[in-house]
Amino acid sequence: MEEYLDPVSKGSHVSRLGPLDKVHAFWFSGMSCDGCTVTVTGATTPSIEDLLTGSHPGLPQIVLHHPVVNLESGPNFLRAHERALRGELNAPYVIILEGSITDETAAMETGGYWAGNGDEPWGADGEERAVTADEWIARLAPGAAASIAIGTCATWGGIPSADGNPTGAMSMMDFLGQDYRSAFGLPVVNVPGCAPIGDNFNETVAAILYFLQGFGPLPEFDEIGRPAWLFGETVHRHCVRGAYYEEGSYAQEFGDPECLVEIGCWGPVVNCNITSRGAINHVGGCMNAGGACIGCTMPGFPDKFTPFYKVPPGSAVSTAASRILGSLIRPMRLYTNEHLNREVRWDLHHDVPSGWARGKQEPGRLKEAGHRIYDKLRRSNDTGKADVAPWGKRHEWTYERDPARERTLPGGTDRNTAERGAE
Ligand code: SF4
Ligand code: SF4
Repeated sequence: MEEYLDPVSKGSHVSRLGPLDKVHAFWFSGMSCDGCTVTVTGATTPSIEDLLTGSHPGLPQIVLHHPVVNLESGPNFLRAHERALRGELNAPYVIILEGSITDETAAMETGGYWAGNGDEPWGADGEERAVTADEWIARLAPGAAASIAIGTCATWGGIPSADGNPTGAMSMMDFLGQDYRSAFGLPVVNVPGCAPIGDNFNETVAAILYFLQGFGPLPEFDEIGRPAWLFGETVHRHCVRGAYYEEGSYAQEFGDPECLVEIGCWGPVVNCNITSRGAINHVGGCMNAGGACIGCTMPGFPDKFTPFYKVPPGSAVSTAASRILGSLIRPMRLYTNEHLNREVRWDLHHDVPSGWARGKQEPGRLKEAGHRIYDKLRRSNDTGKADVAPWGKRHEWTYERDPARERTLPGGTDRNTAERGAE
């Protein structure tokens, strides 16, 4: 594929900067659904096209070796892999794993394999045999500039490692062990999610490449190898439904607009940025699209989150507290919201001189008195406005103007009477 992209790459308006012209990326599939591949092809910051053509300023061109998107197949596809093993690439390489590593010794007992990634000649007679994902990872990881696990299966084991699975599925970092460091000194980099946000992955790759290129610092990773700037917050903190939680309003079924915690959302205790970043190109994402968080980015997924779509037991205390507080807060906010949805002029004149909003007049003296007290409190520390008219309005014409004059058309006709006559 490198040759196919070369004309585009060399025609790029971006001049190469830094010591690296190219970096090879070898992509392997363990126990995977290929969802990680799909999500990366949809990423936009940077896009896969920009990375493959080297048109992202400052980054080397990525030469991707991917079993799904590459044009080569069979021995031609594996040629670069073999050159990497022999140290003949003349460029650094990174390895990327989607899907979990499996216990291939268990599969061999039956004469099969779990996750094959191409065939190679083997043994004295040159007979072909499948080379499994774990074997490629074991071969290439020591020489890789970086080893990156994409998706929850590769980062923590994910669904293939759930209770009852027969494959012995595990994460890339567990497979490579405690002492593993890449050729550039990095432990495995983990970008979880099922499927992950494609932009999280491409952005992490770009950050690592900036580091390798000498243009940026080593990206910050948290204690389990996630990009710290992407996974430092919980879903809940940026959720579009967060205010419903705070006001104690909870959805009873999917499709309701309120907070989804009582129908199974784990967002308050899950590290994921989909609520702020969206699924693709800042669009979509679980709560934005009506789905509850089932913790798919987390090392404990799926077993610590099942059964799905049941209320998490730990939420009982906070939802009960929010319900009590919300029952007080909601009416007060509604009261203030109604007031703020009226123009100051309408309050001063006790009249709404417009076609819309005729029902928006001050609803009763008691409520008005409450608003006046609130207004005084609001401006009590505002020395610039402390002695002005009610509602903070300084312009005298607004306060003193006769509402009847506003309704009078040239010639003396009453606007309201004329409008009603026209109807
Ligand atoms: S839907 Fe989930 S993440 Fe959003 S506010 Fe409710 S509990 Fe929090
Ligand atoms: S919000 Fe929850 S279920 Fe959705 S992507 Fe993030 S961790 Fe996964």
